[in-house]
Amino acid sequence: MNAQPYDMLITGGTVMLDDGLAKQDIALRGGKIATILEPGTSVSATRVLDISGKHLLPGIIDVHFHVRAPSHPERGTVNSETRAAAAGGVTTIFEMPISNPCCNSSEVLVSRRDHFAAEAVVNFALFGAPGALDSKGIEDMLAAGAVAFKIFTTASPPNRDAEFLGLALPGEMEQYEALRLVAKSGSLLVVHAESEPMMHHYMEKELAAGHTDADAHVNSRPSIVEAVAIAKILTMARSVGARIHIAHVTSKEALDVVRAFQAIGTDVSAETCPHYLLFTNDDVARVGVDAKINPPIRTAADREALWAGIADGTLSMVTTDHAPFSRRDKENAKGDMLAAPPGSPGIEFLLPMMLDAAARGKLDLKAAIDLITSNGAARFGIYPQKGAIREGSDADLVVVDLDRETVVDPAKLFTAARECAGLFAGQTYKGAVDTTIVGGKVVFEGGDVVGKPGTGEFLHPRNLMRA
Ligand SMILES: [Zn+2]
Repeated sequence: MNAQPYDMLITGGTVMLDDGLAKQDIALRGGKIATILEPGTSVSATRVLDISGKHLLPGIIDVHFHVRAPSHPERGTVNSETRAAAAGGVTTIFEMPISNPCCNSSEVLVSRRDHFAAEAVVNFALFGAPGALDSKGIEDMLAAGAVAFKIFTTASPPNRDAEFLGLALPGEMEQYEALRLVAKSGSLLVVHAESEPMMHHYMEKELAAGHTDADAHVNSRPSIVEAVAIAKILTMARSVGARIHIAHVTSKEALDVVRAFQAIGTDVSAETCPHYLLFTNDDVARVGVDAKINPPIRTAADREALWAGIADGTLSMVTTDHAPFSRRDKENAKGDMLAAPPGSPGIEFLLPMMLDAAARGKLDLKAAIDLITSNGAARFGIYPQKGAIREGSDADLVVVDLDRETVVDPAKLFTAARECAGLFAGQTYKGAVDTTIVGGKVVFEGGDVVGKPGTGEFLHPRNLMRA
């Protein structure tokens, strides 16, 4: 043997390749998958990882994540929340633009990039907010490495204008202009779709009636609010040729709109999240403010419709919408569901809940993993450098044990928002994360995060290899 040793040989496992599961060994070098070998091939490697009886998957890519850093460190930092990602088998997160200041210019994006690069344990991509930009500003953000753009069709929440400047676009003409500019750039626009005027109407009704319970939250944002906003955005998208990704679809009514627009050839993809696939409004009533999420968790019929939307391909991604808050943030609302801040931690449950869905026969394992790896990678233009186990792809990998259970004990979570994980507390999933590898480096093993701050790299879409 005259070849240099590989950095790592992963041996004995079942590997998820592009075309399905196979017994293979995988050798890593320089942060990449160097070669895929027949099981038991003798090669020299600095470290040998024996994963007999376990499965090797592409590292999970969460395309909808919030830590808001460098603002709000009391809710979680890049380090704490990317450590949680590592523990969840997530090797790349796509951070949304909400921060203070909002990520609405190339200057802010570059400063966020440097902040994240120093602290991140897993890889990260950054979204931009387009609403305060002209064509050149959009191009500057893409040149700086924005992975795509994001808007809300709702107004910025009270007293949070700086966090939402260029991001919250409640007016139809400002939405139309943002779609036109992003379309011209060729980038993708992610939309949080709820109709501001309709929501305002329903919210005022609940406030006037003095309602503060879980029903008030659902009734203040019924599914028609979501469905109408999606229909409007997709109508505009067809007019200007924009490529759209609808964030967190929660209802049958909204899903039907996405499906209808896909059927007439609209360039639209859509996601849902674990909380909409696992829970109903009964759980929101039981859990309280920890289960306050926008848009709301809805009925059992909506939940089943979302699983059907996954099965027929209308929904091609499952994302976390991980949104840590401090206990104090949630408790300041004193149980008032309308006043409580919206969001739940979710990054540590995404992969286990998808493994569990496969174990229960909701979908096959390959389809379950594609929803949280290759589908998002392909839509956002980073496949196959990410989201695939192929020679030459990045060595972002996760070893899972399909036989071991994950039991959610909030006290043992890595997220700083562990005290706000009431929605997921006590859940049991068949399947567990064993080892997480980012760029060829082990960041989680033996139940502990071992990755150092700065292990994660900035994902600059223009610098990636092409298929
Ligand atoms: Zn979100």
